[in-house]
Order: sequence, then C-alpha cells, then structure tokens
Amino acid sequence: MAGLFTAKPSRRERDAARERLAKDRAEKIVGNLCAVTRLALEEGRILTTLAYEGTFRATIRSELCLQGWSWQAADDTAQDVVAVVFSILQVKRPDWYEGQPDWTIKRGTLIERTRCANCGHALPEGHTKFCSTPCRRVHGLRLM
Ligand SMILES: [Zn+2]
Repeated sequence: MAGLFTAKPSRRERDAARERLAKDRAEKIVGNLCAVTRLALEEGRILTTLAYEGTFRATIRSELCLQGWSWQAADDTAQDVVAVVFSILQVKRPDWYEGQPDWTIKRGTLIERTRCANCGHALPEGHTKFCSTPCRRVHGLRLM
C-alpha cells in the first residue's frame, strides 16, 4: 500500500539517498564536461584544460547538495568526476617549479629575468631576481 500514494523515486532521488552517482549518469556528466572543455579550448576561451577545474567541482557539488547529498559526499563525488574528466583529457599539471613566481629562470628555459622583481631596475651581474638584499627583503615582506 505504501507505493500507492508515493511516486517511484527518480534516479536523482535514488542517487541522493545512497550518495552515489549512477554509472550512466556519471558517464553523461563526464562526457559533457569533456565536451565543454574541448570546445572552450578550441574557441580560445580558456588557455588550459585546468581552467574549469574549480567551476566544475563547485557546480557539481552544489547541484548534488541541492539534491539532498551531504556536503562531504557531494564534494568527494565532484572531485572524482573532475579527476575522470582530467584523465580522459590527459591533463598534466604543472610541476612545483612551474608554480613558483620565478620559474622562468629555471635551468633550460629561454626566458631570463633582467629586471629586479621588486623595484624594476636592471639586475647587476650575478643577480637572478633582485638587485639588492633590501629589495629581496621588501619583496618577501610584501608577500607575507
Ligand atoms: Zn630592486
């Protein structure tokens, strides 16, 4: 008798109850995110496949939370979905050196800093980032 007055739960409701995406639903989401990323890259709207990472994760998490998921389960699922998208798109994250402000003077790169990172004056011989110790300290304090 219970089923007489209650509609069969939708797939979204079933997913929310167990806090897991159905496989075909997850595949559809992954396919759409891959397509959006590829299109944006082709059209030049983004410069890297990593550009939408935060947007994708926040959007998926938000949608799942609105469907009744707990925040943690929604975030974990969003992270997993984005990871699958990136593995399909063969995204390579920059290494630690490339994430540093002065990565361009890493050995083997062609671009070399010629101006002080703090004051902009020409770098004296043997200096790679700052013209003087005071400039290095001031720059470091500014970053704190
Ligand atoms: Zn300087």
